[in-house]
Amino acid sequence: MVVHKPFADLGPVLKSTHHILVTEGRVYQKTQVYLDMALKLSELSTCLRSGYGAVLIKDDRIISAGFNGASRGMPHCSEAGCGREGIPSRTRYELCRSAHAEFNSLLFCREDPTNATLYIAGHNVQTKEEKRGASCLPCKMCYRAMRQAKILSVVIRDTNCLPLIYSLDELKFIEEE
Ligand SMILES: [Zn+2]
Ligand SMILES: [Zn+2]
Repeated sequence: MVVHKPFADLGPVLKSTHHILVTEGRVYQKTQVYLDMALKLSELSTCLRSGYGAVLIKDDRIISAGFNGASRGMPHCSEAGCGREGIPSRTRYELCRSAHAEFNSLLFCREDPTNATLYIAGHNVQTKEEKRGASCLPCKMCYRAMRQAKILSVVIRDTNCLPLIYSLDELKFIEEE
């Protein structure tokens, strides 16, 4: 069953858009498994601040995946420090050395990603706690890359660990952050 949930308790970013909350059934099960996979991948992140994983799914197949880390041949945050440590959430992404999980998953995709769904999950590297809610939404640059790649939708977890599904148009507010 798919329900539309009011915007309570989801933070200022999530309140600014519409979204679908999936709460039970086979779709719910698959969604949580794909989010679990993204969360597991985030363990491979080399950033000192945040680890994110992204799994790209099309027609129930994994067509790509990625995690955040320095670009090939460049020093990782774990080796050379992360310039975003202490910087407020969802700002100054360029200070971190990492290419983002969502961006990498699009770059590494070897088939047409049109209408695929991107599942994003992550954790705080210091506390090991899963990140949920608005902090898992893509940054502006990844959002633009998703639009260019014709991704259909984005799935993250809300603060209660339930999946939130957004169409790319529902995420247009990211450009205004
Ligand atoms: Zn970093
Ligand atoms: Zn990004």
